[in-house]
Amino acid sequence: MEKILNYINGELTNPVSGNFFPTINPAIGKPYALVPDSDKPDVTKAVEAARAAFPKWAATPASNRSAILIKIAELIERDLDKLSLAESIDQGKPVKLAKSLDIPRAAANIRFYATAILHESADAHFTNEEAINYTQYTPIGVVGCISPWNLPLYLFTWKVAPALAAGCTVVAKPSEITPMTAYLFSKLCMEAGLPAGVLNIVHGVGPKAGQAIIEHPEIKAISFTGGTATGKIIAATAGPMFKKLSLELGGKNPNIIFADCDFEKAVSTTIQSSYSNQGEICLCGSRIFVERPLYEKFLKEFTARTKALVVGDPLDEKTNLGAMASDTHMKKVLSYIELAKQEGGTIVQGGKQVKLTGRCADGYFLEPTIITGLPHTCRTNQEEIFGPLVTIMPFDTEAEVLEYANSTTYGLAATIWTENLKRAHRVAAQVKSGIIWVNCWLFRDLRTPFGGMKQSGIGREGGFEALKFFTDEKNVCIKL
Ligand code: NAD
Repeated sequence: MEKILNYINGELTNPVSGNFFPTINPAIGKPYALVPDSDKPDVTKAVEAARAAFPKWAATPASNRSAILIKIAELIERDLDKLSLAESIDQGKPVKLAKSLDIPRAAANIRFYATAILHESADAHFTNEEAINYTQYTPIGVVGCISPWNLPLYLFTWKVAPALAAGCTVVAKPSEITPMTAYLFSKLCMEAGLPAGVLNIVHGVGPKAGQAIIEHPEIKAISFTGGTATGKIIAATAGPMFKKLSLELGGKNPNIIFADCDFEKAVSTTIQSSYSNQGEICLCGSRIFVERPLYEKFLKEFTARTKALVVGDPLDEKTNLGAMASDTHMKKVLSYIELAKQEGGTIVQGGKQVKLTGRCADGYFLEPTIITGLPHTCRTNQEEIFGPLVTIMPFDTEAEVLEYANSTTYGLAATIWTENLKRAHRVAAQVKSGIIWVNCWLFRDLRTPFGGMKQSGIGREGGFEALKFFTDEKNVCIKL
């Protein structure tokens, strides 16, 4: 079995303990590689390397940092097929999705920040013609980046790219469930000539390797994407240490569909926003609210198209939904389907595990599932499930749907479907989510602020905000 290795001080290394654990290919339900079971000593080594590398990297001209990062982006593009296949095997997603979304986006993340630093500017304030104030942004030091399993290389690079571009050195940990592409990425960094210690990747489980990153006193900022429960642990540890924190957490996103929408676009895009990546995208909409005059028509068409989706081998080009990321996660989603039944819901479509034959006979597959007849207040409609499962509910008025949409503790993303522009603005202003898409979904401009309200997180990624996050701001006032 292939052994994944840590990337510390420019070298691929075994964990200090020598211990590894298996990572599973969820489409076949079998281990296929070994992951370092890193702990505090590995993080200590990584932080030492990052500290040693920091002064030189921070002082490297932006154009030189940019050139190395662009080289890394080019290598990702060169290895598109290899990385897409690796992502699909590790995570369970259809390989065609990895090839069209995950891996191109990983390269785009790096290009975006590699070029952003060539166009940065700083503020200056003239005070009553008596003084000039200017703001300096200096890289904050060694930072920690921790990412989840759903979009492995995509989200890993979304953090690491701005940190490196800003001049920080990094200790990063990908999810232990999907470590493979971060490992392949470390090899590309070596090939691109990234100086030793600038990026260090420590593999392992959250409570050991992850917690050691959070607790390390020399790590000045933490950029974390993952579940809200983990976010709370991180905030509780890092808050009293006065670390800078960016937390991108869970969601329970509403889709608000008015009767005056473009029906075809609303249905086809909502199929995407419900089931892409098996519903394992933090931005997937899981609560679909349809204005009553359209409700029956929408439900009928949406159900027919859900039924037509192919659940299958992620390596098959015909597959729409691949494997769930893990057995544990598949069982969690199944337990919510049972809960929905207990809460009085009707399973209109799906609801069961899919047993494939052949290569994928032991894989973790689920039917895309539609549930109706539930109140917006029940647990199924309040808790994040993170799978190919949606509830559909009718509404009568704008005020009513806003109450439903805003009723959860989350506030990450929402979609609004209407051809009435005034209504689109009015409703968008009142939905308490950090990201609103009107008549589209996952249409991204990397310059825009990305993040959630309420328990979906604090801070924003994207644009120059993410670069600033990795810096210390200083105002210099000069009396004229
Ligand atoms: P998770 O919180 O279990 O794990 C995320 C990462 O945190 C992993 O690398 C894990 O090893 C690490 N971790 C776990 N415990 C830790 C600890 N005590 N200290 C430090 N690190 C620790 O999340 P997950 O199950 O991998 O991902 C799914 C969740 O991520 C969902 O809730 C989803 O909504 C969320 N998510 C959010 C966004 C966003 O942008 N808001 C994007 C993708 C996923």
